[in-house]
Amino acid sequence: MRIAVVGGGLAGLAVALGCEEAGHDVTLYEASDRLGGRMMTRPEGHHLIDLGFHVLHTAYPALKRWVDVPSLRGKPMDACTMTIQPSTGRRRVLGDALKAPRYLLPTLRSVGIGDGLRFLRWRLSTSPKDLERSMDAVTPTIELGLKQRNFTAETQRVLGPLFAGITLDPSLSERMAFADFTWSAMSHGQMIVPEHGIAAVPEQLAQRLASTTVNLNTEISAITNTSVEADGEVHAFDRVVLTVPQHVATRLLPELSSDHSPVERLTSTVAFVAPQPPYKQARLLLNEEWGGQANTVLHVHLPTNVHPHPEGEHWVVATLVGQDADEPDVTA
Ligand SMILES: Cc1cc2nc3c(=O)[nH]c(=O)nc-3n(C[C@H](O)[C@H](O)[C@H](O)COP(=O)(O)OP(=O)(O)OC[C@H]3O[C@@H](n4cnc5c(N)ncnc54)[C@H](O)[C@@H]3O)c2cc1C
Repeated sequence: MRIAVVGGGLAGLAVALGCEEAGHDVTLYEASDRLGGRMMTRPEGHHLIDLGFHVLHTAYPALKRWVDVPSLRGKPMDACTMTIQPSTGRRRVLGDALKAPRYLLPTLRSVGIGDGLRFLRWRLSTSPKDLERSMDAVTPTIELGLKQRNFTAETQRVLGPLFAGITLDPSLSERMAFADFTWSAMSHGQMIVPEHGIAAVPEQLAQRLASTTVNLNTEISAITNTSVEADGEVHAFDRVVLTVPQHVATRLLPELSSDHSPVERLTSTVAFVAPQPPYKQARLLLNEEWGGQANTVLHVHLPTNVHPHPEGEHWVVATLVGQDADEPDVTA
């Protein structure tokens, strides 16, 4: 079959590779001048900075299927997240005590015994075998799902930024099934940071493409089941696979609009070298007071706490989330 793949991010590359391996004739169209989509890494001096904090969950079934994980030389993040209230300086710790018992007391101090037990119940309800199936469950929104788990408002100030950071949606309107999926992945695997940045993942897939025709700088402006249009020309295929962000998909297929309203957001990454690291661990620091125009830093990550800099520099990377995105070049 002749297959067109629209979008050269991780999904498009995996689809192209899978179709190619199944013996199909694949043509991939990518609007920008590079493959990899939202998985981007940029050199800053001698350091590689990911655009947006990116980790790989080793428990993702699809990861093992598509990626040679050991060759990424990833290092794990702590099984623990920290939060901060910038107005008071108060920090809290939320760790997985089943993985590392030393997190038990700091976590209980942060969330109390009641919510500690709620976390344990949620943790024990997950299974590594059901990871992908859990995504198909019909669930309420994350906002409602967390309330239904009876977490106190105090603890929701930690969970809100955590899941808003994962979904990049401050309204927490994504399905709770997605939070359950991520929670299971965090519970049953590690979060690793590739030595050469997250772009090493799509690069690995791209290098394995053998027969696919790749068209960069080619924005698809219209599609049907069997054709794509680029630069005013229509190209015929047997199948067309769309792997673009949701807001682009709803433009190309307006019939998706009714039940899939896009919640994409603009994200920015600010990276700088600090004289000393604000903390020493390989952890994400979430902003409990995130939200509103004055408080747009969602979280801070210290990549050189994970992969030390050869010359001892300490990098600080902050992720900011901005207004609703309605342009095709948004990154989230
Ligand atoms: C800040 C941030 C942090 C993240 N952190 C993590 C993390 O820690 N762990 C994790 O697993 N995931 C994370 N993600 C999500 C992850 O990056 C995405 O899920 C993944 O990269 C999406 O891949 P994709 O191929 O579906 O889409 P994209 O990467 O968006 O690729 C779509 C491609 O389609 C192209 N395109 C768009 N329109 C057209 C068109 N009309 N014609 C042709 N091409 C078009 C785009 O240029 C793009 O290259 C994060 C994302 C962001 C933004």
